[in-house]
Amino acid sequence: MRVLLVEDHQAIREMIADHLRERGFAVDAVGRAEQALSAARIARMDAVVLDLGLPDTDGMRLLESLRELHSELPAIIVTARDSIEDRLRGLNSGADDYIVKPFNLLELEARLRAVLRRAGSRRETSYSLGGILFDTVTRQASASGKPLDLTRREAALLEELMRVPGRVITKDRLEDRLYALEDAGSANALEAAVSRLRRKLAGAEARLAIETKWGIGYRLVETGGA
Ligand code: CA
Repeated sequence: MRVLLVEDHQAIREMIADHLRERGFAVDAVGRAEQALSAARIARMDAVVLDLGLPDTDGMRLLESLRELHSELPAIIVTARDSIEDRLRGLNSGADDYIVKPFNLLELEARLRAVLRRAGSRRETSYSLGGILFDTVTRQASASGKPLDLTRREAALLEELMRVPGRVITKDRLEDRLYALEDAGSANALEAAVSRLRRKLAGAEARLAIETKWGIGYRLVETGGA
């Protein structure tokens, strides 16, 4: 899941971004409205977490512009303004939820997951296939109750594959889902993550194979066996 985080206060931005990344989200974290719009033009975001008080524009106005790009974009407003007028204004402007500073990171994450669910991305809370269970809440995969030791990116990759078993997902789409703009480093990062995940699935004796469709992408298939 890819989240656009717009917060001009650097320490708060980094704290939120670190938390969400640890919890398996790809996060594009920016401090200005203009950067948020550039990021949203380049990539499809699953949600935006948006501070109201930004240096270059009002957060509400930014939300309107983001919605012109992605009309269904789920949005959570983060605000220090604890007045009822601002809350109503936020919800009237189409934000799905808001959270008042200071807030607990786990609460923000829970609200984010709630708006993502409501937004109809229809994420299941777990996927089960080929002897592997993936819990989307704890971000933990397990085989017969034994947890697999996956990095957060491998877990995110497994989740994307398990969501649509048997269907080819293009490399572009996987990269888009897994890597924020600032992560765009090695061109082989995705291939490397796929190889590692394959090894770990094999190590867990999963009846799952990640097939490579050359030049296109990958798909997850259930293999034979007991
Ligand atoms: Ca601010």
